[in-house]
Amino acid sequence: MSKFLISKYHELEAYTPGEQPKDMETFIKLNTNESPFSPSPGVVSALTNEEINKLRLYCDPDCTLLRKKMAELFDVTPDNIFLSNGSDDILNFIFMIFCGDEVKAAFPEISYGFYKVYAQLHNVDSYKVPLREDFSIDHKDFCGLNRTIIIANPNAPTGIALTLDQIEEILQSNPNDLVVIDEAYVDFGADSAVKLTKEYSNLLVVQTFSKSRSMAGARLGFAIGAKEIIDDLNTIKYSTNPYNINRLTQAAACAAVDENEYYMEKCRVIMENRAFTVKKLESLGFTVIPSKANFIFVKSDKIDGEELYLKLKERKILIRHFTAEKIAQYNRVTIGTLEQMKTFIKAVEEILSEV
Ligand code: PMP
Repeated sequence: MSKFLISKYHELEAYTPGEQPKDMETFIKLNTNESPFSPSPGVVSALTNEEINKLRLYCDPDCTLLRKKMAELFDVTPDNIFLSNGSDDILNFIFMIFCGDEVKAAFPEISYGFYKVYAQLHNVDSYKVPLREDFSIDHKDFCGLNRTIIIANPNAPTGIALTLDQIEEILQSNPNDLVVIDEAYVDFGADSAVKLTKEYSNLLVVQTFSKSRSMAGARLGFAIGAKEIIDDLNTIKYSTNPYNINRLTQAAACAAVDENEYYMEKCRVIMENRAFTVKKLESLGFTVIPSKANFIFVKSDKIDGEELYLKLKERKILIRHFTAEKIAQYNRVTIGTLEQMKTFIKAVEEILSEV
């Protein structure tokens, strides 16, 4: 800590991103829920020399073309769409502008680790709603809370999803509070709440191009909701960094939206590979939490969670281990290609046979 850091940040515990090893090629990376598939062909050809030469110019801060294309894809108007530099950026804005001294927050106790960090960063009083024994969210716990609500659906790192009926109950019981549904993983089998945004003006749905659309490195997140909420987000974007989605990302994302079916097909492959992996792990005695995401949350009675993580790392396979007490026996495993999952299962079999 430098002597210049002002005191309100002295205690801030920053988020720890999953490892991105320097010698990436030698690892099977199942630790940060990226897609194992390349972006679609149109994305590759959208990044032309002409586009690269235009990097000398600022990009369109309104992302006009991209918002138009996305509005068509999601059956909303461009005014209902906010785009930003990864969905983390949007979540940061949400805690900054829709929570504060007079508006407290609520989110699941076990969920995406960044919620706690943003709450601390913006000094937001947060109720961390406990999960049931089986890690599921009891949606009734979020009814009538009188707080800004943030729920990852499917939840991370569990992969368990709420139904749209349950989300509607939360929306109806909190008519004067913003309900944020973080759908980073929704394309892998859960139902999206985007269609509810037409009916509920207190709903904001957040999604990302990082997972189902194979563009984690391009940094693009988006939110869909009532125009008034989107306008508030834009006020803050234009008060901080209006050019926060660079020219190449905008060009790539336009092409990705045009080729939506490519990505939906890849999601179907991931779901098949998930079913394969779950079956194999269960036959090896693992407990596997039922997942609607591109990852599974698993534990074995035969080996400690951290030990399994370390032994896989020795074999150049990275998975994600969390140290929080309630989940320390578990590991989160991103679903990759079938070949990667077969290699992972083989390594797990070998490790189990040694313990
Ligand atoms: N929400 C959840 C639940 C996530 O797991 C992640 C990815 N770590 C994000 C949001 C942020 O994704 P990005 O900033 O890459 O859009």
